[in-house]
Amino acid sequence: MKDRFNYVVDKAREGLGLSEEEALFLLKNVALESEEFKILIDAADAVSKKGFNNFGEIHGQVGINNGPCSKNCKFCFFAEVNHDGSSTYQLTDKEIIDQTQVLKDMGVGSISLMSTADMKFEEYLRIGQLVRTEVEDALLFGNWGDLELKEAVALKEAGFTFYYHALRLREGIDTEITRRKRIETMKNVTKVGMLLGSCLEPIGPEHTYEEIVDTLGVMKDLDVRFMATMKRIATPNSCYTQVGEISNEEFAKLTAVTRLYFGKQLLTMAAHEPTELCLCAGANFLITEVGTNPRDDKEQTELGRGLSYKQCEAMLNAAGYQNYKGDFLTRYNEMQ
Ligand code: SF4
Repeated sequence: MKDRFNYVVDKAREGLGLSEEEALFLLKNVALESEEFKILIDAADAVSKKGFNNFGEIHGQVGINNGPCSKNCKFCFFAEVNHDGSSTYQLTDKEIIDQTQVLKDMGVGSISLMSTADMKFEEYLRIGQLVRTEVEDALLFGNWGDLELKEAVALKEAGFTFYYHALRLREGIDTEITRRKRIETMKNVTKVGMLLGSCLEPIGPEHTYEEIVDTLGVMKDLDVRFMATMKRIATPNSCYTQVGEISNEEFAKLTAVTRLYFGKQLLTMAAHEPTELCLCAGANFLITEVGTNPRDDKEQTELGRGLSYKQCEAMLNAAGYQNYKGDFLTRYNEMQ
């Protein structure tokens, strides 16, 4: 085990990525709080510090509406099965523009406009076009539902630079969306020239390492450039409240293995919600969030789980990253 561990970690340190079998080996054989655990975390940290030139990044997100959403992802606070519909909510156009402008003025890298998948596409597109008109030079990260090719084209033409989409763990079992549909959307995003952001999510104690590696394998092949890990939050009164959450150490281990598995393919690496340990395990991308949040039962996540820009910056600095404040697209072009 020791020789194999040393071989895999030495290979990973080069930033060349890992095979699925090597990622599975690390997940299965590295015990939390062991000597190997510390070596694994340090290796992922070193790959990110070198690959990202010691810079961390702060991006922003505006959650523009909440549930109930018919896609019924059991882990999501907005799903019909978890949401009683008593507090259905959508920000006004003015609120969305104002929030986006505030984030832009703070200097965030991009602004994610997040809605439930049940919002009409035309409405989501209209909001995106409005924000692009009203908030000069804002780089937009789309986060809606599954996209037909013509919808991906429309978002690209509206000025979206990035799109977030994930093949979730137990997609089609814990959600009412097929794996095929999710994968098709991710392909459509890159086909039209948007940059694809994704995430290993929502990780809970019930997921096996085999299914985690299977999901990572699909996403690596889809040219994901902005990757993340997200642990499932046991929001009150949801299908998964009783199942609980993974520990911070397990979350850091999964973040480190994900970081090493993707290697130089990544332009950033995030962990939601970030912990100090994850920021020492390869994560360098933080999000300051306002508005609605599927991991939060507060209507304004800035009053709940959402982090402020200052908190994000302090976390990056504490983990040894400088907060990047230059031109983000130039940075990504130089890193390709
Ligand atoms: S995760 Fe997205 S698609 Fe699933 S229920 Fe929540 S809002 Fe709907």
